[in-house]
Amino acid sequence: MGRHYDWLVVGAGFTGAVFAERVANRLGQRVLVIDRRDHVGGNAHDFRNEHGILCHRYGPHVFHTNAAAEVRYLSAFTRWRRYEHRCCAMLDGRLVPPPCNLTSLDVCFAPGRAARYARALVERFGVGTEVTVQTLCAADDGDVRDVGRFVFDAVFRRYTEKQWGRPVESLDPSVTARLPVRISHDDRYFTDRFQRMPRDGYAATFARMLSHPLIDVRLECDAAAVGTETTWERMLHTGGIDAYFGYRLGALPYRTVDFEFRTYSQPTHLPVGMVTFPDDRPYTRISEARHLTGEPGTRTTICIEHPRAHRPGLDEPCYPVPAPENHRLHDAYRQLAAAEAPGVVFAGRLGDCRYITMAQAVGRALALFSRV
Ligand code: UDP
Repeated sequence: MGRHYDWLVVGAGFTGAVFAERVANRLGQRVLVIDRRDHVGGNAHDFRNEHGILCHRYGPHVFHTNAAAEVRYLSAFTRWRRYEHRCCAMLDGRLVPPPCNLTSLDVCFAPGRAARYARALVERFGVGTEVTVQTLCAADDGDVRDVGRFVFDAVFRRYTEKQWGRPVESLDPSVTARLPVRISHDDRYFTDRFQRMPRDGYAATFARMLSHPLIDVRLECDAAAVGTETTWERMLHTGGIDAYFGYRLGALPYRTVDFEFRTYSQPTHLPVGMVTFPDDRPYTRISEARHLTGEPGTRTTICIEHPRAHRPGLDEPCYPVPAPENHRLHDAYRQLAAAEAPGVVFAGRLGDCRYITMAQAVGRALALFSRV
């Protein structure tokens, strides 16, 4: 049966779900949320596998932010579990914590050399600071430069080539800046004040956000399948802006990831939540849900990530490739949207074609709601 909605929201990830929830709750307007996939939550979706273990379908998602407003907003839909993500990189058979910090130097170098490097870093940048690997590589001091080159070659080069399918030098420096070198012994993956996991998982959180009499959700449904009997005033499109226009100007380049799950008959398999492999193995990293969720059990499931090029329309666009030519193509799509689809709002990781954390997606969706 046909229905009229105030908003059609394409995509049930953070951007779409937050926006739909606000429109329904705050404005009392009717929203139809559709998603191509068979679940809400976008790439944050989690599920219980055949062993009853809560797993992240699209790789590990750890919620971290310094923004109180985003936490306040989401706390209406979930309680939280304290979790500080820790990671190890496998370097020549040794497990070294990234982001690289003074502990990593202790693991990788003989004591005298590690101490000399640590002194040079502290003298140049000060204790407790964070510096990009590019800054270290460009430093005047030879010891600081040595550390920079070591981190670049040992941690970033191979991993980044596998992850992005191109040399690290050709990517926007914002990618490697996500993992700065830390002049301290803080070996946590993130330093944000708020680092938590939704206590019952992401899928349960999304179900609560979208459970509202004014919100209808249709899964395994794209805009073409909505049907002419259903109408709407305005549209928020959080899918690919290139897909919306039928890839008319060419496909925006994304990387996708094949997620391989394996279950072992032991309580845990990895020493920490995630191990990265900056080497010639075909995968980039392995994560273990139990560390993140804190759920006990006698079996554990790990997730192995195999990145590869995204095939438009065939698989999930996971990471927009941040390089100048891709920003130009996205700008061209923006202009096309302004000319041909002025009533459609494009937003989110795919609509804006940029890497954003979950917290940023929430913040941007709340800001978008205030604007429209
Ligand atoms: N990276 C790396 N080696 C590592 C971990 C990360 O080279 O051991 C680089 C890689 O280019 C990656 C980027 O740092 O894409 C950001 O890593 P992050 O863990 O933030 O990736 P995400 O969790 O967003 O996939």
